[in-house]
Formats: sequence, C-alpha cells, structure tokens
Amino acid sequence: MLFREFAEFCERLEKISSTLELAARIAELLKKIEDEKDLYDVVLFILGKVYPPWDERELGVGVGLIYEALENVSGVKKAKIEEMIRELGDLGLAAEKLIEKKKMATLAFEELTIRKVRDTFDEMSSLTGEGSRKRKIMLLTGLYGLASPMEAKYLTRLILSEMRLGVGEGIMRDAIARAFGADSEIVERAYMITNDLGKVAVVAKNEGEKGLKNMSVQIHVPVRMMLAQVAEGVKEALDEMKVAAVEWKFDGSRVQVHWDGKKVTIYSRRLENVTNALPEMVEEIKKCIKPNVILDGEIIAVKDGRPMPFQHVLRRFRRKHDVGKMVEKIPLEVHFFDVLYSEGEVIDLPLKERRKILESVIEESEKIKIAVQTITDNVKKVETIYRQAVDAGHEGVMIKNPSSPYVPGKRGKHWLKLKAVMETLDLVVVGGEWGEGKRSHWLSSFELACVDTTTGSLLRVGKVATGFTEEDLEEMTELFKPLIVSQEGKKVEFIPKYVFEVAYQEIQKSPKYESGYALRFPRFIRLRDDKDVDEADTIERVENLYKMQFELKKQ
Ligand code: AMP
Repeated sequence: MLFREFAEFCERLEKISSTLELAARIAELLKKIEDEKDLYDVVLFILGKVYPPWDERELGVGVGLIYEALENVSGVKKAKIEEMIRELGDLGLAAEKLIEKKKMATLAFEELTIRKVRDTFDEMSSLTGEGSRKRKIMLLTGLYGLASPMEAKYLTRLILSEMRLGVGEGIMRDAIARAFGADSEIVERAYMITNDLGKVAVVAKNEGEKGLKNMSVQIHVPVRMMLAQVAEGVKEALDEMKVAAVEWKFDGSRVQVHWDGKKVTIYSRRLENVTNALPEMVEEIKKCIKPNVILDGEIIAVKDGRPMPFQHVLRRFRRKHDVGKMVEKIPLEVHFFDVLYSEGEVIDLPLKERRKILESVIEESEKIKIAVQTITDNVKKVETIYRQAVDAGHEGVMIKNPSSPYVPGKRGKHWLKLKAVMETLDLVVVGGEWGEGKRSHWLSSFELACVDTTTGSLLRVGKVATGFTEEDLEEMTELFKPLIVSQEGKKVEFIPKYVFEVAYQEIQKSPKYESGYALRFPRFIRLRDDKDVDEADTIERVENLYKMQFELKKQ
C-alpha cells in the first residue's frame, strides 16, 4: 500500500468528528487492504503507534532529529523552522510547508510505501550507540526525501505519536469488528489478552470471529489487568457475593510476571516492561517459581517491616542507570494474588481454582509472597482484616468473588476495593486514651474535632487509633502529655493545640458526636504542625464531603 493512500485517508478522517462515522470509514479501508503486513501497520499507524505499547522497541526520534532531517531536505535553517512551528502550532504542518519547498527543486523518483516506512522505522529502533544519531538522521532524511508535503505531515505526526485524528482504541475496535463481521465484544476480549490491535485485525481478517475467540494468553505478551470497583461497604459486598475471598489491598504497584524457564518479563500496570529495573526480583522469581506461568501481584517497597509510600516503587520502576544502588536503597517484595497462565491459559477458571494453582507454583521467600487470603461471609471478620491491613500501613482490603473468572481489562463487580477515601480532613485533637498492656504508657487513640465557625466551638467527629507507628505514638505521647487538662479512667482531655491530618473510608451521620457525623475507619496520616487550631477543617467541609460521597457512588 502506498503511504500516499494512507496520508490521503488521514486527511479525510481529520474532517470527521462523529465516532460512528470514523469507525465506518476505517472499516471500509481495512476491508480493502489485502496484504496482512500492511493491515497490521495501518491499524497501528492510524492510532499514532509504531509498536504496541508493551513492545520494548522505540523509535528514539525526538524533535531535534526531525529538525535536522527537515533542514537537510528543505535547506531551511533550524531557527526558521522553529519560527514556523511557533506560527503554525504543529510540527506536522511545518513539515508539510517545508516539503512543498523541496518539491520545487527535486522530484522524488520513488513512491513511499507503508512497507518502506515500516522497514525504516524498524531499522531506526534497532540502532544503538555511537553513530546511531547520525544514521537515524540519514534514514529520516531519506523518508522525507521521498515524501509529498501531505505525506510529510502525517509521517511527522506518526513519529511524534500525535496523529490528531480523534481515533482511539474504542473506535478502532469497532472498525475492526465492522470490517470483518465480528462481534465488538469478541474483538475487545482478543485485544485485552494480546494488547495489539494490529494483530487482532489480522486474525479477524484471516480467521474471522472463530479465530478471535481462539486467541489465548501467551507468555511474554502482557494481558490487560483485571481491575476493581469501589465497594459500597462490607455488608453490601458480602450480600452481593455471599462468600468472599478477602485480601489486603497492598499499597504498592501492580505487576504481571511472565516466566518461561529461560526468561522473566515483568510488566507494570500500564504494561510497560520494567524487567531491567528489578534485577533482584528476576533472580528471586527464577529461584522460587515454577516456570511456564503468568502471575499477577503487587510489588511493595519495605523498610523495617513497614511499607514505604508507593511512589518509591515507581522510582524503582523508572530507574534505568545505577539500578544496583536502588536495589539496596529501596528493598522490594512482591505479593502475588492471581495466576493467568500455568502450562496454558487459566483465566476462565474460578478464582478459587486459580488460587490452588497459585499456591502450587510458588515457594515463598523473603521477597516473594502469596497474598494471604481469607474466605468468609462474616462482616466483622472483613472489618478486622481491613483494620489489620491499615495498621500494617496498607490501603484497605480487596473483596473478591471466589467463583469469578479473571476478566482482563475489566473494572467489574467480581473485585471490590474498600479503602480510605482520598480526601483527607485536618482535625483538632481534643482528647485521647491511654493504651493497654505493652502500650499502657502511651496515648494510643485520639479524639478529633472540626471547627464550628459561627460559634467558634469544636465539634467531635471521631477517634483515630490506626496509622501510627510505635515511634509516632511515643512522639505523640510526649507532645500531648503537657496538654492534659483532665483524666477519667484511661480517658483524657487536651487543651486544643494540635491538628492531625486523617484519612477515612467514609463519613456517616451519627448521634454519637456533637457534630452529628462520625468518621468510619479513620487513619492517621500526619501531624499538621504547620496548621493552627483555627485553620482546621470546619463542620461545613465535613457536611460537604458527606454529601460528595453520594455523588461519587453514583458515578
Ligand atoms: P485502585 O488502583 O484503587 O483501582 O485499586 C486496584 C489496585 O489495587 C490494583 O490495580 C492493584 O495494583 C492494587 N492491589 C493491591 N492489593 C491487591 C490485591 N490483593 N488484589 C488485587 N489488587 C490489589
């Protein structure tokens, strides 16, 4: 297929805004493409992609190289090109204008094809080290040399992954379904397990719906991760599932591990290949896990037995150089909670069966764990697990349906998450309670209040006892002891002086406190010693957040 036909097609698409019409037009084009390699490339190119997102290859061509190639072809100096971009607001349009100039001087002797563009891209992405920059500029100059102005425009946009056609994955899925007479849902499923719409289009063309249905999970090809919905509450979740598999919701980052006996590949939640950033994990996986599997889990960073904020895990993922240093600085462990493949695809087995497989392929070690799972129908039990998770520094719990399949890419009702909502409150600490046993010399829970701005009084909204480390409790005891104004049994009252930032799972109406509200599962985040009592959150804000919860649940 000529690249010109592709560029002309893009030009037509650019004028269409209706998604239905876009899908219909793309379907017409896909139907006409005979060569399957061309079909693969056109699907990706329309989406502004050269490779599927999980492919490690990348063009490595930035704006700088494009400037130089355009300068070579048009003779226009870089400063002038920059000025043109400022005026036109788009490097694609600038390339179009510049190539118009070239046309007057030299005429291309060969027509650009999709195949030529693909081969040049593949060569560019294979180049590394010294001289690669020069060679890339040469290759790019070659492409621009063959391009018409319109082709140059789309070539540039493709290189920059910015096609500006308004075509996303959903439209492409519908177009493929329409072109080859397949059900959209079946195309979607095939996409979720291959993450490559080009490949899905080729299979749909050659083997139809049946071929798509037969596509299965493969090692070293990442699968879209199954996602969770927000649980309305523990009771609601249990009513829905009857019996639930409950696990901690670890505060880390999602990983999918592929291991075939020779090679380990680790993908992040966004399906980026993060294997090279995690060498110690790769070694440990090879030691502890039976090969020919795809596992799903959460990596957490741990220091002195407690999770570090999840951003640390992301820092590890991003690290490209001096990875060794980071291995020591940010120690990781992984908690596996699911399996997608074990000597074959297992996603359609119920969770309870997958769990058995998971337990049979992993030998736990210091760094490799199987997430503890409790099967229960008891609300109290789930609440206890929730508190344990939060006390251990994690986010909450996942409540899963033991009979459910693994549904790639779906945010469904099979997995429900229960965690403290993100909006935190800054509240005044007005009282507390001494701990028990080993903790009897420490203040271990604190009463919190919001501010009533009209009367200036403090209205209690709850009590926080989780989220503290032992050092925190020691520090708080020191801080609050001098503020105690009265004591009754273990209960104490403080002169209001300090503000705590707290997270919580929900705000409820409650007659228990003067504010008329109570925080469910409050969790200490930090001491806001930068805030005075009169800067703490007001009763109006508590009321607003209470109302907002209902809005959020409706979404
Ligand atoms: P969220 O990111 O809030 O939508 O919550 C879902 C995320 O929780 C998943 O993508 C995982 O990264 C994470 N997670 C932590 N622990 C678990 C678990 N036991 N099961 C499933 N997901 C978990």
